[in-house]
Amino acid sequence: MSDFFPSFFIAPGHIVKIMTSNTPQTRDQKIIHLDMDAFYASVEILDNPSLAGKPVIVGGSSNRGVVSAASYEARKYGVHSAMPVVTAKKQCPNGIFLPVRMSRYKEISSRIMAIFRTYTPLVEPISLDEAFLDVTDSTKLFGPAEEIAKEIKMRVQKETGLTVSAGVAASKLLAKIASDQEKPDGLTVVPPGQEQNFLAALPIKRLWGVGKATRKSLSLMNINTIGDITNLSMALLTSAFGKQGEHLFLASRGIDEREVIPERTIKSVGHEETFAIDLVKMKKIKKELLFLTTKVGKRLRNYGMAGKTITLKVKYNDFKQITRSRTLASATNDDRKIFHESCSLLERSEAGKRPVRLLGISLSNLTEGTEMRQISLFEEEKTGRKRSELYEAVDTIGNRFGPEAIKPGTLIEKKGE
Ligand SMILES: [Mg+2]
Repeated sequence: MSDFFPSFFIAPGHIVKIMTSNTPQTRDQKIIHLDMDAFYASVEILDNPSLAGKPVIVGGSSNRGVVSAASYEARKYGVHSAMPVVTAKKQCPNGIFLPVRMSRYKEISSRIMAIFRTYTPLVEPISLDEAFLDVTDSTKLFGPAEEIAKEIKMRVQKETGLTVSAGVAASKLLAKIASDQEKPDGLTVVPPGQEQNFLAALPIKRLWGVGKATRKSLSLMNINTIGDITNLSMALLTSAFGKQGEHLFLASRGIDEREVIPERTIKSVGHEETFAIDLVKMKKIKKELLFLTTKVGKRLRNYGMAGKTITLKVKYNDFKQITRSRTLASATNDDRKIFHESCSLLERSEAGKRPVRLLGISLSNLTEGTEMRQISLFEEEKTGRKRSELYEAVDTIGNRFGPEAIKPGTLIEKKGE
């Protein structure tokens, strides 16, 4: 590792002191993250018990689609969500491929969310099958957070016939990592003060918002576990990875101060990206826009929401910032539509003439996307050539930032609008 950035390396024991007074430990939050196990696939098995123990793959109505969920048996064949169905069929020729039945999943989702809300009003759904609960104030009524998690698991099983995994911790970051620790039907508790110990041995890919490219650079520095990151100074991490370096520094220590935002306060869903190098060429700008669009569309669909107003934010290299927005006739969560509208909003900016430092897309004026289908650029694009261009564009971007470049839960909350 000394070959890389030797002058910045800080030896263990000389770690920069974190100058924040509002760490999760001091706030003593009690957060539970609940995540249904192989949700869509489990619902299919619930409704057709003869599928139990078989490799069930949801999302396979056509070869053009991607896998939405795979049962644990299917996962043994290397099948995972977001994998093209064609690939899944090659990996698991005996798999049972089923179409997505969104309305059924939504029905069960509202039942589990209702169970969650009997323990706290602070429920933040991340997708149909996943939510954060802030139970800090509920403990007086229902007992310790761990007991609440146990009770919720029991009730979900009893009332829906499905299993849910839970993580209990003092922050969203830790609770989410914990819920994934013993899937399926797991319950993992990270006691306060044990955050850094809990994370130390885990591989870096378990942290949110750390892309492949970053992981590769870290692994070249012989940094492979989350604990290894804590040996690097903030100065080194930010010089190597920019803003993401700061995230790495804090997250590796288990520090995450984000609060649980109950669903009703979500006014918009968006994402923005600041670029290390200003974007000059229109082609490049559109590629980045496409990347943002697919992320925002996916997030909306995960929430079962659609938005009517699309807002584009552009910051130029002189830090001057503009927004352009448009309200559609009907709400959408279709990547193509969002992308198309974003491109026409882009024409109302000076992008392409002036270097662009930041791009952002958000959808507001949200409604429940009840008529939702699994719409995405990848599934719906008709012409082969166009589609491969899109793949190429997204792949290029994906390689640069990594598929998880977007932190789960990145919501742009707009107050007073
Ligand atoms: Mg799940």
